[in-house]
Amino acid sequence: MSPAPAPAGAPVTVRAPAKVNLHLGVGAPRADGFHPLVTVYQAVGLHDDLTAAPAAPGEGLTLSLTARPHLDVSGVPLDATNLAVRAGLALAAHHGRPADARLHLDKSVPVAGGLAGGSADAAAALVALDRLWELQTPDADLLRLAADLGSDVPFALVGGSALGTGRGEVVDPAPDAGAWWWVVVPSDEGLSTPRVYRHHDELRPAAPAEPRPAHAVLAALRAGDVHALAAALHNDLQAPALDLRPDLADLLEAGERAGALRGLVSGSGPTCVFLCADVGAARSTAGALQESGRDGVLVVPAPVAGAHVLDVPREV
Ligand code: ATP
Repeated sequence: MSPAPAPAGAPVTVRAPAKVNLHLGVGAPRADGFHPLVTVYQAVGLHDDLTAAPAAPGEGLTLSLTARPHLDVSGVPLDATNLAVRAGLALAAHHGRPADARLHLDKSVPVAGGLAGGSADAAAALVALDRLWELQTPDADLLRLAADLGSDVPFALVGGSALGTGRGEVVDPAPDAGAWWWVVVPSDEGLSTPRVYRHHDELRPAAPAEPRPAHAVLAALRAGDVHALAAALHNDLQAPALDLRPDLADLLEAGERAGALRGLVSGSGPTCVFLCADVGAARSTAGALQESGRDGVLVVPAPVAGAHVLDVPREV
């Protein structure tokens, strides 16, 4: 059956960024099963774009998907388990209104890569549907809905650089004087976040209740000092990720040999990110990694804005 013609109304496109964790301190699991975190997020110039267009009453929320060339999106569900759809349903329920809209997702963020692409899509859906449905939801309510959807979703709304505490959902913007350049190297195969956390608990059975603090990273951001930041980068999930994917250790070494100041597993991996002294160093590091046969290598600036409406909606 062909869908009913959509009612008039302007589509809204929202761009939401991927994140890297400059610091990820993980504590022993809490009674609710979540791990307490102290993390420093940074939003990087790699985005998903989500367009929300009006739908006929009773049509519900539908989702279509495109992706940049060579991005494997076979693991992205198109049903109500997609985080963007879940976000739309949660926003509609919060306002007690029907959830009718056509969503189109154009993905650039690698899936299950430790870059929080699904969380970015959830944040984008909250912002796009808030605009499409003319709800003017207060920021505090959007942040609460975001936190219920996932630990990384509030940060995708806020963007920039920020300290994350709780299970990562309590987000406070962090002063950042820098203009940073990262090389991002995705992996052909994703790594499941719960699996990496489980392995973390096996490797660190005596992890302290209080996660490692992020003072050094926060100070380096405040000073805009790239060498201090490179020295301070820290990820408690790197050891378990490398244990599950030993090939990543070679990649980290190759990137540092190619000129990066420091390589790091992004969040739970398997994407690896490399902090470079400037854009020239980032380009030459990316070039060297490409020549050695790595695919999908990207050079991205940071920090960038959180989920925001684009002036011109995307054609879908
Ligand atoms: P995180 O680090 O926040 O756990 P990630 O970047 O490692 O996330 P995502 O790309 O967010 O991983 O996706 C994790 C899983 O979530 C996917 O394998 C997929 O099954 C499911 N998923 C649900 N909605 C989405 C979405 N919009 N985009 C990508 N994956 C989604």
